[in-house]
Amino acid sequence: MDLFDNNSTAERANLPRNMIENSMFEEEPDVVDLAKDSSTFPTFPPLDPDEVAYEPRSSRLLVRGLGENDMDDEEEDCESSARLLGMSFMNRSSAHRSSSSPYTRQSPPRSCFPSARALVVCVLILVITVSMTMVLYFLPGCTFTKAGCPKPNQTDDDEFPWAKFRLPRSIHPLSYELTLTPDLDKMTFTGRAVINMSVLHNTKRIVLHAANLSISKATFKLGDGQTVDVTVLERNSQQQIAVKFEAELKADQLCVLTLDYSANFSNAYDGFYNSSYTDKDGEKRVLAATQFEPLSARKAFPCFDEPNFKSTFLIKINRKPNYMTLSNMPKAKTTNLSNGLVQDEFENTNVNMSTYLVAFIVADFTSVSMDDSGINVSVYSVPEKMEHTKYALETASKLLKFYNSFFEIVYPLKKLDLVAIPDFLAGAMENWGLITFRETTLLVGKESSPVDKQIVASVIAHELAHQWFGNLVTMSWWNDLWLNEGFATYMQYMSLQAVMPELDIGNLFLDMRFRVMDKDALNSSHAVSTEVNTPEQVEEMFDSVSYEKGASILLMLNTSLPGDQQFRKGIIRYLNQFSGSNTETVDLWNSLTQFSPQHQNISEMMSSWTSQKGFPLVTVSRKGDQVTLSQEPFLLTSDNTAHNSSLWNIPITYVNDSCGLAPECRQVFTLVSKTGTLTVSKSVKWLKLNYRSTGFYIVDYGEEGWSALTDALSTNISVLTPEDRASLIHNVFALSRLGRVSFHQAINLLNYMSSETETSPVTEALLQLNHIYRLLDKRQEFDLVARMKACIKRHFGSLMNSQTWEEKQSVSEQELRSALLMTACNLKEDNCIRQAKDLLKQYVDSNGTFRIPGDLQRVVFAVAAQSDEDWSTLFGLYTNAIYDAEKRKMLQGLASTRLPHRVAWILKEGLKGKFIQTQELPLIIRMVCQNFAGYLFAWDFIQVNWDRLIEKFPVGSYAIQSIIKSTTSQFSTKAHLDQVQAFFSSLKERGSQMRSVQEALETIRLNQRWVDENLSTLKQSL
Ligand SMILES: [Zn+2]
Repeated sequence: MDLFDNNSTAERANLPRNMIENSMFEEEPDVVDLAKDSSTFPTFPPLDPDEVAYEPRSSRLLVRGLGENDMDDEEEDCESSARLLGMSFMNRSSAHRSSSSPYTRQSPPRSCFPSARALVVCVLILVITVSMTMVLYFLPGCTFTKAGCPKPNQTDDDEFPWAKFRLPRSIHPLSYELTLTPDLDKMTFTGRAVINMSVLHNTKRIVLHAANLSISKATFKLGDGQTVDVTVLERNSQQQIAVKFEAELKADQLCVLTLDYSANFSNAYDGFYNSSYTDKDGEKRVLAATQFEPLSARKAFPCFDEPNFKSTFLIKINRKPNYMTLSNMPKAKTTNLSNGLVQDEFENTNVNMSTYLVAFIVADFTSVSMDDSGINVSVYSVPEKMEHTKYALETASKLLKFYNSFFEIVYPLKKLDLVAIPDFLAGAMENWGLITFRETTLLVGKESSPVDKQIVASVIAHELAHQWFGNLVTMSWWNDLWLNEGFATYMQYMSLQAVMPELDIGNLFLDMRFRVMDKDALNSSHAVSTEVNTPEQVEEMFDSVSYEKGASILLMLNTSLPGDQQFRKGIIRYLNQFSGSNTETVDLWNSLTQFSPQHQNISEMMSSWTSQKGFPLVTVSRKGDQVTLSQEPFLLTSDNTAHNSSLWNIPITYVNDSCGLAPECRQVFTLVSKTGTLTVSKSVKWLKLNYRSTGFYIVDYGEEGWSALTDALSTNISVLTPEDRASLIHNVFALSRLGRVSFHQAINLLNYMSSETETSPVTEALLQLNHIYRLLDKRQEFDLVARMKACIKRHFGSLMNSQTWEEKQSVSEQELRSALLMTACNLKEDNCIRQAKDLLKQYVDSNGTFRIPGDLQRVVFAVAAQSDEDWSTLFGLYTNAIYDAEKRKMLQGLASTRLPHRVAWILKEGLKGKFIQTQELPLIIRMVCQNFAGYLFAWDFIQVNWDRLIEKFPVGSYAIQSIIKSTTSQFSTKAHLDQVQAFFSSLKERGSQMRSVQEALETIRLNQRWVDENLSTLKQSL
């Protein structure tokens, strides 16, 4: 899966330097800690001795499903939310309960007391009232709900024969035959799942997943025996169903479970969900698509919904004649049914695959195709956007060739479809043979800018890499998600550098590595491989640590291995060895170790990077020709002594002033212990470690070392590569946050900037200064804001002024110009604002014939959004725009307005989804939060609308992570810290345990400390 918008880290607030106490976290154990304490929650004896190995630690969710009183939780949630919102609180649930309680009506009415007759009547009334009340009280709450009470084949959790989050291993599915009949008018579907299974261990039950499916009939057949009706037990809290048997099913027996069911389409972005778009005639067209990763295949069909229950799938879809269908495999045949529907049957999958990779679509799309070495590659879109599909088709074809030859394993299916879905939350999803995308990440017009093409090519490269990494070889469990995502992310950069060098993807990759370090420096970060025991924890694995740190450590490994083919050969070995099956992290390292010439222990080296969170700070101290290197964790909080002893196996690279640019200059030193010593010539003036910033560590050169590097760059910037210059800037600001170098020293390094023209050093410096600018702006430190503005202009003014506003071809130049002009216009530079307004005017006046260069669109639209009149014009353009990349930039512009009524409107509309698709809400919130008025507004907005947000975006999901980060990362006061803490702890199971909440609190504390401690320094340094 591609998360999209995962460059959002680039725009988050700066992190302060000093270490602070983090006792509040210590007082609030997280889910895992609670689960460890067996006295806190009951534990369940294993039901089968052979299944003990798979038992997750008991989770909160699991316990809640077994009898915790949900109503009490709801009451508490209402109460704390209400308190937080300053509203007078009325406990609706308890008010309701007390009025229906038999005890409230026990005392007879006073007027009945005097006469005996009246007394009899009263007693009678009382008895009737009490009886009725008691009947009402004991009727299940569901009696009067729309959904009604559970059907007789459901049970309560006590009868359910399984009490764990993960399924038992005694039964393994071999094949599924699914027949689905979607009704796009009623927004429902019916299905039949025939599941062939093999019994691995003797057992009396079959347990699998199903969520929100109404099962109407279930039959079972053991071996060659009779087909019999069976009762299906349901345990909704764990989204599991089960069939119990009197007699044991014996190991090696084969059996078949057939389930008929019906369900509604999902209204969120997962499961089998409906989507719609308006065609060129203004007609609303509906379609249905799937998004199953990570836990939503169970919402479309009953299945063993864990990645290591691989199986084959034969899919049939009954549709109306005016629709078309797609699935993972090519269509085998189409048959007319007697009810006027048409049945499309797809070929049986010729590979075993995990349920999260199954996909199907019912729509009226059109496609372009080409045949590529026997594989039919097609790109599908709504008919109106056909002409925007060609670039994707060519790119997919090029990349498919590259991967076929790079992995030396030919893509195993006969066809590969890439489909642009009008409503889609992630960037894309790698379903085998049927990759689904947002329209923005697949469709580009022929006139679109190279930067737009870079986005599309990156996402295609990522998803195609998954066809091998993830689809062919899959992680056993979500704890090792990085094996899928870290790899696909690394391959996306590596393949584009090889196949499409004109896209200059290197700058983006470098920036990505800096940003994930910023996140991984926090105490709330996690190890690349982390234990995962709840649905929320599964969702949370889709974060930058799995994706971007995963990719970064693979780059570090590849560049530190001696032969340039060694990494590739190890990967090929791994893919061949585990083709069609599941793996754990150690399997990858073992494959690479087996292939290394000197049997270098890669497992030992790399497990230090995957099994512990964070990364090292390497400190350099030099005496003559002796250079001592020492390592310690780079941690932005000081209280976590447990991690201070962490050591990494670091392949340190270095260059010096005698040779600093070419790859041959690079020397390697492996630091495995706390300190190590290397020797350099006494004549060496400076050393630069981490050549081209391919290693995942930060370097402190000490005062003399930093001065030597600063002097060298001031004399001649060409002594180091642009990546090395950018990494010095990143590192010095990171060290200033840590308190290891002064802010003054960091600013000093920027003095060489007047001669800098390369993209990555400039964008990194701008990003660092913009962070500080925003933080000061939010604290309303106007004097410092003005000085910061002057500082930015001092360093970049001439470069800003030298930018032109015409089309540019080089991606790198476009990235540079876009960053510079965005900053200039944000700082309200007259020239920038005037040029932006001129371009908008030309664009509007030309009636669509004049194009604003793609990289300048965001700047132009952001300037337009600041005036009420231009905002309306821009919204009109947005509504009518067809071209998705441009449309999205217009939306970013609209959301960056500082006009309060527009901010309020766009947030509301983003949630409603009428004028703006709800999938864009995380982006809207991120943009809104960048300005002063917006960020406070957005914080109120998410508090008031939290429940609606988590209906659309699951707790823990990347969208929710992004929303939390956007709304909280620029707070820097105690009052805001208290508010954020109070709000999230009131959520309980609706989000309080999320790692991103811990990250938010930690970030605010760090911001607070940084601002408080640096105000005076800033006054002197700026
Ligand atoms: Zn992915």
